[in-house]
Amino acid sequence: MREHQTQVRKTAEDLMKTGKARLFIGYTEGLEAARPVAFFLKDPERAGALVLNEFCGAGLAKYVLDEAVSPDALSGEPLPPVAIVAKGCDALGLERLMADNRVPRDELYIIGIACHGIVDPGKVLEVTGEEPVSAQVEKDHVAVMTTRGSHRLAKAGCLMDKCLTCEDPTPRVYDVLLGDPVQEGPAGKRDFSGVTQVESLSPDERYEFWARQFQRCLRCFACRNVCPACNCSVCSLDEREPEWLSRSTDLPEQFMFHFTRAYHVAGRCVACGECQRACPVGIPLMLLNEKFMKDIRDLFGEPAPHRPSEVEPLGKFCPDDPEGWLKEAETA
Ligand code: SF4
Ligand code: SF4
Ligand code: SF4
Repeated sequence: MREHQTQVRKTAEDLMKTGKARLFIGYTEGLEAARPVAFFLKDPERAGALVLNEFCGAGLAKYVLDEAVSPDALSGEPLPPVAIVAKGCDALGLERLMADNRVPRDELYIIGIACHGIVDPGKVLEVTGEEPVSAQVEKDHVAVMTTRGSHRLAKAGCLMDKCLTCEDPTPRVYDVLLGDPVQEGPAGKRDFSGVTQVESLSPDERYEFWARQFQRCLRCFACRNVCPACNCSVCSLDEREPEWLSRSTDLPEQFMFHFTRAYHVAGRCVACGECQRACPVGIPLMLLNEKFMKDIRDLFGEPAPHRPSEVEPLGKFCPDDPEGWLKEAETA
C-alpha cells in the first residue's frame, strides 16, 4: 500500500489545483508511526503531508456526511466534489451512504485502493512486545519492522479483525483505482465461525455472554458515530422528548442500546468492521452484525448481504414469503 503514497499525493495535488475537488480526505501521520489519522486537505501545497501505508485502517467514509454539501448554501452554485481515499471496506461504506440517499455519487471523487490488508499495531505490540514502525503484507505472512527489529508474523495474528473476513478488498466503486484489483481478502472469506460458536451456547449461556460484554459498554457512541449505516440526521438515541433510551448504563438499558443499534443496521450493515475497531473497550460488535448477516443469507438467500443493492434484503416484498402474515394481510 505504501507504494501508492506518491500517487495519492500527486492525485490530491492535481485534483485540488485543477479545481476538480474542493477537499481531499486521506490520512496523515499521527503521534506514532503506526497510527495515522484522518487528514482534510484544502491546500494543494500541503499534499506532501498525505500518507498511505499498511496502518491506514480507520475508515474515512462517514466524514463525507459533514463535507459533501452542494450546491453552495450561499451562492447556490454547484461545488466541485469531495475526493476521498477508499479501500474496499471504505468504499462499501460510501456505497451505503449513496444507497441511503445521504450523499449523491457526483459529489464524490473516489480514489480506490486495491488492498492487501491493514496491520493492527495493538496486535503487533501484543505478539512482539514492541511498537511497529512499518509493515509489508506479503502473500502468506506480514513482514513487520518494530522499534527493536524485524518480525515475520502470521496474518491472523497481526491484521485488523475486519481484514480476516474481508470479501471486498478491491473497491466496488471508484473514479480511479490505485493498484491491480485484488480478488480475495488477505485471509479468505467470512465463515461466520464466531457466530456459530455463540449460537451453540444454551440461551442462559448466551445471555451471560452478552451481559458480560454489554456491561463494559461506556455508551460513548463511537460505534454509532463511525458507522456509515448509522446515518440518520437526528439519531433517536440523542432525542430527549421522547427519551427512547435513558442515560442509565444499567444492564437492561445496555441491552436496549445494543439491540437497537444492531437492528437498525440489520440488512444495511456493510461489514466494514468500523464499529468494533472504534470501540475503546473491545466489545465484539461484529458478532451481532454477523449474526444478522448470516440469518439474512440463510433466510433470504442473499449470498452477500453486506453489499448495498438497490433493494435491501429486508425491504423486499416477496409473495412467496414463508411468513403467512403477508398473504393474510393481502386477503383481509
Ligand atoms: S477489510 Fe478488506 S479492504 Fe478493508 S482494510 Fe481490511 S483487507 Fe483492506
Ligand atoms: S455496523 Fe459496524 S460493520 Fe456494520 S456498517 Fe456499521 S460500522 Fe460497519
Ligand atoms: S463504542 Fe463500545 S463502549 Fe462505546 S458505545 Fe459503542 S459498544 Fe459501547
